[in-house]
Amino acid sequence: MKYVDEYRNQESAQRLAEAIRRITTKPWSIMEVCGGQTHSIVKYGIDELLPPQITLLHGPGCPVCVTPLELIDKALQIAARPEVIFCSFGDMLRVPGSGGDLFSVKAKGADVRIVYSPLDAVKVARENPQREVVFFAVGFETTAPANAMAVFQAQAQKLPNFSVLVSHVLVPPAIEAILSAPDNRTQGFLAAGHVCTVMGFEEYLPLAKKFRVPIVVTGFEPLDILQGILMCVEQLEHGRAEVENQYARSVQREGNRPARELMAKVFRVVHRKWRGVGEIPQSGFGLREAFAAFDAEKRFGLVDYSVEEDSECISGQVLRGVKKPHECPAFGTRCTPERPLGATMVSSEGACAAYYLYRRHAETSRVAEGARQGAENA
Ligand code: SF4
Repeated sequence: MKYVDEYRNQESAQRLAEAIRRITTKPWSIMEVCGGQTHSIVKYGIDELLPPQITLLHGPGCPVCVTPLELIDKALQIAARPEVIFCSFGDMLRVPGSGGDLFSVKAKGADVRIVYSPLDAVKVARENPQREVVFFAVGFETTAPANAMAVFQAQAQKLPNFSVLVSHVLVPPAIEAILSAPDNRTQGFLAAGHVCTVMGFEEYLPLAKKFRVPIVVTGFEPLDILQGILMCVEQLEHGRAEVENQYARSVQREGNRPARELMAKVFRVVHRKWRGVGEIPQSGFGLREAFAAFDAEKRFGLVDYSVEEDSECISGQVLRGVKKPHECPAFGTRCTPERPLGATMVSSEGACAAYYLYRRHAETSRVAEGARQGAENA
């Protein structure tokens, strides 16, 4: 396969779905970790192609969704300062904090700028030596190398006016927390292919062994996901609990070594709070002491700030696969993408936004319908 369309081929999707149907004899709950996978599943109706015994649970892998409320509030406070140019990826601007979002701060006159790379923020700092330039460094292991590079470059260029507000989170501790929870329903995982492209998959081996769960590193296109599910169900049906790599065209066992070395230079592993979930030990990156001068929380005196989350939003349960978005009483009524109550309704990778966007309760998706018709005609 050379082109993206081949990963969306309907006949191949039907064959994979049929293979899953053939081997499934028991009910299984499988979690796709990444929000990008969730969107593919809902958009293409992949779950509607599966036999009724297979339940897909949507996991915590949306970086915007899990950035804790207090980090959003810190961003709002920093961005509102007159000396600050606050740089961020666009999808963070609409995430609600406890008193508005970055768009509303910008509307009141703050200098909030959307950038496409953290290195753009370094450039802004170089061009504005009289201003404080802060970059909102959020994300999973996927975005960490570029953010590490920005801090590294700022230090090399001796930029005293650059800092980062860091909220990096890590996938393996989140999987461990999900599997350790008393209400856990997940029996197998589709691990996020892009995270593993950076980190490899060796750190998943002890998790598969300890919790006796299959973990299949999986891509994002419909055929990737169906193949990942097939590999996972094969393991579950045969009582195996191994780490397998469906996304071999991108992922190697040891990941991207230079990227990991750069991250290890700049970041250290810290306890991190996840929005809607709470603190997970050793689940994030923070700056190493050698780079503490670039820590925006320290620079603006916000290290000890904390805040309670909205009790109406059940995104914590959605992110742990305990509830589906439409089971939230506010879904589609008090909470919509235009007026979100929680971050999972904001992000392009959020499960609530995916359910809302693709109107899955009103319509059967085109792909699923086509596949069904194809199966009936066969
Ligand atoms: S629908 Fe809105 S309120 Fe409900 S869990 Fe999703 S983001 Fe939170």
